[in-house]
Amino acid sequence: MNRYTESDERRALRREVAKLAGTYGREWFTQKARAGEKTTDLWLEIGRAGYLGVNIPEEYGGGGGGIGDVAAVCEELAAQGCPLLLMVVSPAICGTIISRFGTDEQKRRWLPGIADGTGTMAFAITEPDAGINTHNITTSARREPATDSGLEAGWVLNGRKIFISGIDEADHVLVVARTEDAATGQVKPVLFVVPTDADGLEARPIPMEIVSPEQQFQVFLDDVRLPADALVGDESGGLAQLFAGLNPERIMAASFSTGLARFALDRAAAYARQRTVFRGPIGTHQAIAHPLAQSKIEIELARLMTQKAAALCDAGDDAGAGEAANMAKYAAAEAACDAVDRAVQTHGGNGITQEYGMAGLLVATRAGRIAPISREMILNFVAMHSLGLPKSY
Ligand SMILES: Cc1cc2nc3c(=O)[nH]c(=O)nc-3n(C[C@H](O)[C@H](O)[C@H](O)COP(=O)(O)OP(=O)(O)OC[C@H]3O[C@@H](n4cnc5c(N)ncnc54)[C@H](O)[C@@H]3O)c2cc1C
Repeated sequence: MNRYTESDERRALRREVAKLAGTYGREWFTQKARAGEKTTDLWLEIGRAGYLGVNIPEEYGGGGGGIGDVAAVCEELAAQGCPLLLMVVSPAICGTIISRFGTDEQKRRWLPGIADGTGTMAFAITEPDAGINTHNITTSARREPATDSGLEAGWVLNGRKIFISGIDEADHVLVVARTEDAATGQVKPVLFVVPTDADGLEARPIPMEIVSPEQQFQVFLDDVRLPADALVGDESGGLAQLFAGLNPERIMAASFSTGLARFALDRAAAYARQRTVFRGPIGTHQAIAHPLAQSKIEIELARLMTQKAAALCDAGDDAGAGEAANMAKYAAAEAACDAVDRAVQTHGGNGITQEYGMAGLLVATRAGRIAPISREMILNFVAMHSLGLPKSY
């Protein structure tokens, strides 16, 4: 193995996941999405096979691997046309934060279900008024003393979240709230595991244009009472605990994008090889071949940066991983949007039929330019941190 090639184990993992996902396939996935059904069968099967929790520590039911491994699983599923967005959230964000900052008891309680898919966990940070500026979140966590009626001391959450993926498929949601440091008035993010059936929690679906069985929700938290041990990590742990989940999130989002891009490009190349309207297949024409070749290059570059980010993250270099994960996520989203657009064009009119399923990928890949962090905020990050330019916001 050289430094630019993944290990034999990682490549074997990719092959196995691709084989399994291939038995489901894109048609199965879109049929589920259009029928308003879920992809639980595939989710549980990858859970049973050990792929879903490949990054979770072995002692809690996982595979003991890293973000690079779970990102490879995410990419291969998408490359077979079966992207599972909740992989970004449940094993990668929630699994990482709980593995790193949870108590032993919390790890025992939540990680095995995250690993085998029977205890999926959603993640809620975005708020309607704060948007991408998460420093402005207002969901509050208030300490609550024990009551005379026998309720134990704990916390009460109030606030509103938006675009929360898959909360209808999750048993719990990791909610980012804030407490205020009494001395300095500084906002501190605090993380709570909240049961999705908790009193005071309501989730309303947001009609989205994405062809996906996984949906987004508005979430209302009205006096949601939690036990003291719902708090993950230190009450004054600050941003470090939250950021532990954000590099994995970006690496997974990049893998989701490169997987979808590979899927679209494979289909486009296959179509360009066989569709003939003048002399020879349309792939003979450089106007068709070159954009596809360009996409091949852009996807491979994005994959390489994603693998670098994962390697840095798994080596514990959070700062180095931060720059690489942002760059990877940016490059992957751009490569995916362009690849899908070119795949649609290659298919001509068939590119916008349901039968060929290309146009349905336009919105899914376009979302990668917005979430979980937008293209503009990555450019802000790179301008400021990589180039030393003044902060612009
Ligand atoms: C499919 C999907 C799934 C999602 N899943 C989840 C989830 O599971 N959990 C969760 O918590 N959130 C989730 N989100 C939310 C996602 O993280 C946000 O949509 C994203 O952070 C952008 O926030 P916003 O939509 O409020 O955009 P806004 O913050 O309103 O931004 C609007 C536009 O303005 C730009 N902009 C804002 N400020 C600046 C600036 N300073 N400089 C330059 N440009 C700027 C942004 O880049 C963006 O293009 C999801 C979103 C989508 C689309």
